[in-house]
Amino acid sequence: MIDVIDLRKSYGKVEVLKGITTSIKQGEKIAIIGPSGSGKSTFLRCLNCMEDPTSGSIIFNGQDIADMRVDINVHRRQMGMVFQHFNLFHNKTVLENIMLAPVYLGIQDLRKQKTANAMLRVRNLFSKNKKPLHPITTTEAKIKAEAKERAMSLLRRIGLEDKAHVYPSTLSGGQKQRIAIIRALAMNPKVILFDEPTSALDPEMVGEVLDLIKQLADEGMTMVIVTHEMGFAREVATRVIFMNEGQIVEDDTPERIFTNPQHPRTKEFLSKVL
Ligand code: ATP
Ligand code: MG
Repeated sequence: MIDVIDLRKSYGKVEVLKGITTSIKQGEKIAIIGPSGSGKSTFLRCLNCMEDPTSGSIIFNGQDIADMRVDINVHRRQMGMVFQHFNLFHNKTVLENIMLAPVYLGIQDLRKQKTANAMLRVRNLFSKNKKPLHPITTTEAKIKAEAKERAMSLLRRIGLEDKAHVYPSTLSGGQKQRIAIIRALAMNPKVILFDEPTSALDPEMVGEVLDLIKQLADEGMTMVIVTHEMGFAREVATRVIFMNEGQIVEDDTPERIFTNPQHPRTKEFLSKVL
């Protein structure tokens, strides 16, 4: 599904990713572990086109998404991303948070609207004024209604439908992160990338978030998870990648990585965290 070939990323003179080559197959659940600063987040951000690689390729659906000429929006909508700090929009309700991207993309697809124009139409569509500035077309209203229906069904799935109209600031960390996860799901992505989804949570909230990720894994979702939760990685991952200083040092089954790591750096790292 995704082939990464000799991916490199430098910030100034510092090379943070030093030639990553790997492939991600449909249905795989890949845990990425490794010390702080080893390039795990940078790697995920490159996969999601949030960062332009310095060189190398990322072939997704037969197209090189590291190539600046491709339309990254087409690819980005097929990759969900969940961040450590949730990254919900604070000035939008829970429901709006989940609906926004699908509505935006739906509107953009209409007559291939330009980004600025689509943004304007979306703002108009979500306007809190009784009478919006511009008339809303029936197609736009339909896109919004469908996004709402899907968002509500996702909220029901995680038992938070009663939070639809509140603002994120009123939620617990665990609730915020579960909302962020279903927000990613609302786009029907082919793969979800998680960057330390539980590191910012109070310990008692970690379980509910991991349970949701586990459910998605069981349903066959392809996922890449940067995590410090070794127990979780061991239980859920089909593959574990150990990164160190911008390189993949070891890439193996969880069983092997956790019971019989081959590389001295992996051994050293695991002896500290297990
Ligand atoms: P952690 O476990 O702490 O999250 P990580 O493995 O995710 O670490 P990255 O965040 O990918 O590591 O960072 C890798 C290296 O790249 C670090 O040395 C970091 O300081 C550097 N780095 C990351 N982003 C930038 C940036 N925007 N500008 C300059 N340097 C950066
Ligand atoms: Mg990181």
